[in-house]
Amino acid sequence: MRVVDDALWQRVKARRDMLRFAIGRDAVGNALNRAHRRRFLLSGLLICGSCGGGYTIVGPDRYGCAAHRSKGTCKNALLIGRHKIEDRVLNGLKERMMAPDLLAIFIAAFNAEMRLLATSAEREGLAAKRTLTEIERKLAAIVRAIEDGAYAPILKARLSALEQEKAQAEAQLRAGKSRPVLRLHTNLAEVYRTKIERLAEALYRDRSR
Ligand SMILES: [Zn+2]
Repeated sequence: MRVVDDALWQRVKARRDMLRFAIGRDAVGNALNRAHRRRFLLSGLLICGSCGGGYTIVGPDRYGCAAHRSKGTCKNALLIGRHKIEDRVLNGLKERMMAPDLLAIFIAAFNAEMRLLATSAEREGLAAKRTLTEIERKLAAIVRAIEDGAYAPILKARLSALEQEKAQAEAQLRAGKSRPVLRLHTNLAEVYRTKIERLAEALYRDRSR
């Protein structure tokens, strides 16, 4: 009853198993039926050393050459566990990112940002003060006009409008003063070290990735 020889049949079976795995997965090898498709830390970043194509998830938590797996065009059959390669990459990154010149760049950028924040807070405070002085000058002029006998209903309306503006400007000034004073951090090396320690955590968060 056989229409193909055993060797061919074995190849067909192997290909069928592979396809069953492949079509149930997205481009990086995550199961499609999961409601929440997970992207791994190194998804899309690993490259096969033989063919230059992508190394993708080809089995449960295993990376392999996608071309080898799906087309057989690459001879590289090596697989590596996802956790193993993630640890290797992260440890390498951590080591390199602790270099003193990178720490210096971090400290410079941190301080520049703090100075920028402090300057803009100062500028806002000055602007609020200027507005307040101007309002007070207008108020005094109206009061003088009324004292000189130039009373008119329109002056009274203008007076209460200015009083309201004054209250607003004062509130703005108070808000600026109650904002915490920005200080330069005393131990930025420690801040940096902690951030590097939490590298894996940060890279898994979409916002900081
Ligand atoms: Zn390859």
